[in-house]
Amino acid sequence: MVDESVPEGQSKAAQADQLPEAEPAVAAETKGSATAAAATASAAPARPVAKGGSDGAEKVPGAKPTGARRQLDEREQFGEPSAWIRDALRQTPSWLVSMVVHMVLLLGLALLTLPEAVTDELRQLVIAPEKDEQLDDLEELDYEPPEDIDVSTELSAVETEIEPTDVEISPADDVEAAAVAVELSDFGFERAPRNDLLAMVGAYTGDGLSGRGTKARGGLVKKYGGTPASEKAVAAALKWLAEHQFYDGGWSFKHTRAPSCGGQCRNPGRLEDARIGATAMGLLPFLGAGQTHKSGKYKATVKNGLYFLVTKMKRTPQGGNLWEPGGRMYSHGLASIVLCEAYAMTHDKGLHQPAQAALNFICYAQDPVGGGWRYEPRQKGDTSVVGWQIMALKSGHMAYLRVPPITVKKAFQFLDSVQADSGANYGYTGPGKGDATTAIGLLCRMYLGWKKDHPSLNRGVEWLSNKGPSKGNMYYNYYATQVMRHWGGDEWEKWNGVMRDQLVNSQARGGHEAGSWYMPGGDLGSREGGRLYCTSMATMVLEVYYRHLPIYRKKSTEEDFPE
Ligand SMILES: [Zn+2]
Repeated sequence: MVDESVPEGQSKAAQADQLPEAEPAVAAETKGSATAAAATASAAPARPVAKGGSDGAEKVPGAKPTGARRQLDEREQFGEPSAWIRDALRQTPSWLVSMVVHMVLLLGLALLTLPEAVTDELRQLVIAPEKDEQLDDLEELDYEPPEDIDVSTELSAVETEIEPTDVEISPADDVEAAAVAVELSDFGFERAPRNDLLAMVGAYTGDGLSGRGTKARGGLVKKYGGTPASEKAVAAALKWLAEHQFYDGGWSFKHTRAPSCGGQCRNPGRLEDARIGATAMGLLPFLGAGQTHKSGKYKATVKNGLYFLVTKMKRTPQGGNLWEPGGRMYSHGLASIVLCEAYAMTHDKGLHQPAQAALNFICYAQDPVGGGWRYEPRQKGDTSVVGWQIMALKSGHMAYLRVPPITVKKAFQFLDSVQADSGANYGYTGPGKGDATTAIGLLCRMYLGWKKDHPSLNRGVEWLSNKGPSKGNMYYNYYATQVMRHWGGDEWEKWNGVMRDQLVNSQARGGHEAGSWYMPGGDLGSREGGRLYCTSMATMVLEVYYRHLPIYRKKSTEEDFPE
């Protein structure tokens, strides 16, 4: 269904492409009229040439016009374009020449503004295809004066007091029961169709998130190498995250602007605009720990965060768009993971549509040629952005949402195009051996069906294992930790011992920063996303014991959690 709608969406996008161009052009016309007049004056010397034959050959029956006509005929016949034009000009009424000159000038001016218009308009297209409806609605909400909320903070968007009407519909489900297939029979017709391609994909099962329930979690922490200290660190991190939520339910990478913080914590990120991405990063660690809007200590926190994301989503013919300046398709991918996970864990019917719509947009945004994703929809892909979109598709599939096999198939192709050493390593936009890109590529391969005995996967894991966890690069650590955890065995134990203790020991303990992390200079993320980004990534690394069930586990789920 989704892939069918893509060509339609594409053509609509192409139409839409052209619409807003009219505006800058018109603006240029009015703005440029004075300039155009001046330009015409300077072009005037060309016009007297035309004066002689101003009324055309037909009106004056003299020799001159006749000769001119003959000349014209001859030249037309023998093809002397420049002379032909000169003569034609001579015989053209001056008003016509003037009009043509003006038109050319105006066209030129319009073209001059075009490059800017295109970029601008691309953003508009991507951000707000339904500008009139959606944005106006949001702005109205945004400027509604809050009742008992500090208005002096930077953010005008205050929605904490508004009861989300479209988020909470179904009765509460407990987390333990969340992934049980029986629960899904209520909306069986909306379930992802089982098909061969997806059936072979190891992690695409409905119980991949079931480790997050409190009962399962305790056993998994112990079994897979977590400690009371690592669990304590997760608890402290969730507290810090909750304290840095904004009144509107969202987060910002400039966490210093959170009302309760007021700059007490250092290292704000630079991506202030990317509030959707920041909110997704704020929410993911809660979901990873089994905290949802239906159950757990942080119900209200999660609910307000989900509400923020759902209301920021723009409905477009291509799906639910969570693209934003700054975070771009990163934001969309991250927020999609949140919506899919929250839906998978709670079966809240109010989240079904937003989650599916977000996935639809991912399918639309895929590069139709190379199968990847990048900053803008349909751009040629890079491994980093691809990683988040594949994680979102995987979460969606675990939630029994629709993920077209063709999208998965094309994503395979993208991975092929950036792999090195037959798939043991991965580059960014072409074959290579980057640390983070290799970890991302391998995790994607695991999720997309490579079995544990795949030789390239073996070599890749060995490569990561020899490198070990990074001191500061949390992007690499986040993906590599998941790869090693799914891999299991001695490699995992070795990796986990270092990674876990490094994080537990580097967590901030004093003041408002308590419970957070900041690793300077590790990867771009720490500079762009600051302390919020580092804290979110570190927390998810420490949740690795239960956040996702291992792909290559040998026994059934029941045997994984003996009661
Ligand atoms: Zn703070």
